Amino acid sequence: MTFANLKLTAAIIDNLPHELTTPTPIQQLAVPVILAGRDLIALAQTGSGKTYAFGLPLLQNIDVSAGYVQGVVIVPTRELAQQVATALQPVALGLGIKVSVLCGGIDIEAQRAELVTCPQLVVATPGRLLALLQQQALQLEGLKQLVLDEADRLMEMGFWPDVERMMTYMPARRQTLLFSATMAANLTVQTDKLLFQPQHIKV
Ligand code: AMP
Repeated sequence: MTFANLKLTAAIIDNLPHELTTPTPIQQLAVPVILAGRDLIALAQTGSGKTYAFGLPLLQNIDVSAGYVQGVVIVPTRELAQQVATALQPVALGLGIKVSVLCGGIDIEAQRAELVTCPQLVVATPGRLLALLQQQALQLEGLKQLVLDEADRLMEMGFWPDVERMMTYMPARRQTLLFSATMAANLTVQTDKLLFQPQHIKV
């Protein structure tokens, strides 16, 4: 099994870090579902390779010639936002895709200024993304794909009301991908509202 078998383009594969030779199980299962355009609920732990599992198809689906946000990844912490962006940055750079990290604890004015440069992929924590949406510093009308990463932690940390509020700024017709280490009943109730006929995978 190779990344090319997963129908990832040569442009993506040529820019992968060298240690990525064989896709991990979550990558083997999730990439085809995402490239097929389906919504997805994936149960996977940190360390499984989940960041590239959602990140590579996300990057492949971005139209580089369009200067608006097409993909959003929501994560529970600033550290995780940085990690996700750092992992995807080399591939994004190779494809000419601009990635912005929007999270609390960083000067909001600097982030407003950065948004003027038209990122195509945003990695964000819920509170800050919502604040920027409310300030109309960013528009998500062109959003194609939304990832909720570590959804169980988003819920445990009390971010779900913010997640629901930010949905009102996103097109209803979008692909939604939810990654979580665990799937408690209260999370299932919430995800049923946000995803359309999702495929389920577990590694
Ligand atoms: P993650 O679960 O996304 O946090 O990834 C955990 C670690 O696995 C990161 O250091 C990745 O660089 C690494 N990794 C992800 N996919 C692969 C792969 N296919 N082969 C080798 N290492 C990988």
